[in-house]
Amino acid sequence: MLKRICLLTSLIAFLMWAQIAAFKDPSKLFFFLPPFFLIMLVLWMRKQMALLIFVANLLLLAMAISLIKTMNLFYLVIPVAISGLLCTYYLHQKIWEKTILRSGEKKQNTINEMQAIKDRYDARIESLNYLERQVSGLIKVFEMARDFNDCLSFSELLQAIDRKMTPEVAFSAGTIILSENTEGVSEQVRHVFSFGNHKRLNDEENLEFAKLCLEVLTGSSQVIKFEKKSDHGTLDKSSLEIEMPLWIFPLLVKQKPIALVVIEGGNMSDFPKFEIMASQLALQIQKIQLYETVKEISILDGLTKIFVRRHFMERFEEELGRALRYKFPLSVLMVDVDHFKSYNDKFGHLVGDKALRQVAQVIRENIRRVDVLGRFGGEEFIIVAPEIDKSKSMELAERIRSSVARKHLRIYDEEIKMTVSIGTSAFPDDLEKSGDENNQQAIMDELIQKADQALYRAKEEGRNRVVAYA
Ligand code: GH3
Ligand code: MG
Ligand code: MG
Repeated sequence: MLKRICLLTSLIAFLMWAQIAAFKDPSKLFFFLPPFFLIMLVLWMRKQMALLIFVANLLLLAMAISLIKTMNLFYLVIPVAISGLLCTYYLHQKIWEKTILRSGEKKQNTINEMQAIKDRYDARIESLNYLERQVSGLIKVFEMARDFNDCLSFSELLQAIDRKMTPEVAFSAGTIILSENTEGVSEQVRHVFSFGNHKRLNDEENLEFAKLCLEVLTGSSQVIKFEKKSDHGTLDKSSLEIEMPLWIFPLLVKQKPIALVVIEGGNMSDFPKFEIMASQLALQIQKIQLYETVKEISILDGLTKIFVRRHFMERFEEELGRALRYKFPLSVLMVDVDHFKSYNDKFGHLVGDKALRQVAQVIRENIRRVDVLGRFGGEEFIIVAPEIDKSKSMELAERIRSSVARKHLRIYDEEIKMTVSIGTSAFPDDLEKSGDENNQQAIMDELIQKADQALYRAKEEGRNRVVAYA
């Protein structure tokens, strides 16, 4: 401020001196014109408009005095030029202002548009991120489902669930419930499988839980969600420990529920994942059931429900392998129904079939779980008894023979009594080519052949008896 006052005072002093000089002799004014314009230029450049106008006025005043004094029109030129300059400047100023204003508006519009674009872009990015999260969640679910696809048994399926799903999505326990009637969920629980970190380990509790879930679902093909036990009377009454929330997914195939998947203690945000999972499980459960049926058909004889010869031979090979490895004994029993042809002739084939099935049942009841029973031919059965030596095999054979002989077979209105003859052979006692341990097939053939020879002798000796290969 002080600087400006000093500048202004010295300027006024200079101008006054110039005016006085010009008043005496106006021609001297020309000497001062360049510094005048210089000062005006500087002021203009520094945008000190008030000072500029003041200096310009002083100059105009000096010119006016000079004009009046000398009556020389030349002094008119300078004020006109200065006014012209000022007018031009003023007009330009206005145009610039307008231009600046307009460009300011344009700039603001552009900024607004840019901001709107940025907002839209941010929203897109956010929705893309959301989609990416969703997609990666779904990919994980589908990866899990791919793992499920390889499972051909329920135990494999449960392992796959525990390996893949349990660490990935938070939940407390899961249960797969297979109902008795595949056409619809009935009250009858066929199988219960549990998974998850806090699965129920007690079979009775699992069964009770399964029945409870079936009761809650009755008739519905919709997914059922409960936040609290009190949401459903049946749940509320139950003394079972149930982690809430509880979700029950009926597994629908062609709109029909074939089983239930029940999830306890899941996160609400993971619910869509469990929905996908349940639909994948539905297909897989159906596949496993189908596979088990096919497997059963391929290994079990349709009439007697015991192993077919091919599967029996596979199991025989496994058992012989173990016997060879661990030096265990093993026995083979060949069982043939006595005079079976005459039963057929007397009662007909249908009765014969049923009798055969019942004889197979009696044999099964008299052997251990580890023994392998197969249908060797028409009315001939074969048993492989691991870890049973020659003397024990006689006891086993005798038990079977006497049980069949005692049994009254009830078929339609007929009561039939049947007998069987049994020939046995034992590993390693009866082997002649025992040196060749690598040729399991030869050992199996030899044991079967010798049991058959013993059976032949039993028939020859009068049937309904047991003969060991000697
Ligand atoms: P043996 O005491 O000497 O063994 O006399 P068998 O009559 O039992 O012996 P044979 O081998 O002469 O006859 C076996 C009969 O078993 C012949 C066949 O018709 C009958 N058979 C074989 N498979 C079946 C079957 O699946 N169902 C019925 N109903 N009969 C069968
Ligand atoms: Mg026979
Ligand atoms: Mg026979």
